[in-house]
Amino acid sequence: MEAGKFGKIKMMQLPRYVLVGHGVLEEVAAVCKRLKLSGVALVVTGSTTRHVAGEGVLEMLADSGYDCGLVEVRSASTESVEKVKSVAEECRATFMIAVGGGKVIDVAKVASCVLDVPFISVPTIASHDGIASPRASIKDKGVNTSVAAQAPLAIIADTKIIAEAPHRFLAAGCGDIISNYTAVMDWRLAHRLKNAEFSSYAAALSEMTAKMIMERSKEIKPNLEESAWIVVKALVSSGVAISIAGSSAPASGAEHKFSHALDMIAPKPALHGEQCGVGAIMMSYLHGAEWKYVRDALRNVGAPTNAKELGIKDEYIIEALVQAHKINPERYTILGDTGLTYEAAERLATITEVI
Ligand SMILES: [Zn+2]
Repeated sequence: MEAGKFGKIKMMQLPRYVLVGHGVLEEVAAVCKRLKLSGVALVVTGSTTRHVAGEGVLEMLADSGYDCGLVEVRSASTESVEKVKSVAEECRATFMIAVGGGKVIDVAKVASCVLDVPFISVPTIASHDGIASPRASIKDKGVNTSVAAQAPLAIIADTKIIAEAPHRFLAAGCGDIISNYTAVMDWRLAHRLKNAEFSSYAAALSEMTAKMIMERSKEIKPNLEESAWIVVKALVSSGVAISIAGSSAPASGAEHKFSHALDMIAPKPALHGEQCGVGAIMMSYLHGAEWKYVRDALRNVGAPTNAKELGIKDEYIIEALVQAHKINPERYTILGDTGLTYEAAERLATITEVI
């Protein structure tokens, strides 16, 4: 590039309609019409969520004149993506509607992207920021991988349905949002030390979602629709921050590496957001930040704050801390290139009262 000439290019893919609130599920067909979607809708749903909302969505679409298909998925794996793809091709789907939890949304996100058709995200729980982000977590031969897919064309998040789901999911969603606090610290560090590409807008938005949930942590309670409202808005903003950055960096740092390491090491891992929350307590300590504030916020929302509450043995926590830096090594974090020694990991988990 010639000196002094401006040559930057950036592309962002963002959702076009975001509908959050009481009873908005009823609007699903109206949103499809507003988006000028025509042809065949494939409803992608789970075995439980099918009864909660999947079949209801199918009916509403059929009543509005859409030809529809329905496919049930049980796991976020390459096999599920293949299954959805083949059903979509069979019924000549022109768009997909993912009605369910994170797994269902991730599978529809990837399958729709491969087939080059739009998808609408209809979360029935709010357990992580994948409900709005352009990235998906898919298991390939048993190994979890984060893949770039597409952002949903619309998000329809009915707080009535989300508030009725077990509180554990909403608390996990808070954990995923609170972990943005350490993710942004890591991102800034990577920018300063490794010249990693950095977006101040994405960082500010992501950081704000974490701070808001921590500040309002006492308002997040079970069976309270207002709580679902607060968390869903933060998750959508977090997903948008990822879209703005064009990478998961604003919402995924060392605490996510720790969670991914636990997924591989622990025989029975906890929920993604639960593990990321506990990781954020420990990474805050490493950053010299307010780890107790992070811990108390997680406690207030009813999310786990230690190994026992995660249902994971201490030894797996330490091992995950030692191994974490090896996950996605291109992303530089507070764990550095060489990670923690066993002794340092044990001390970190002990000081922060995780073990
Ligand atoms: Zn996450």
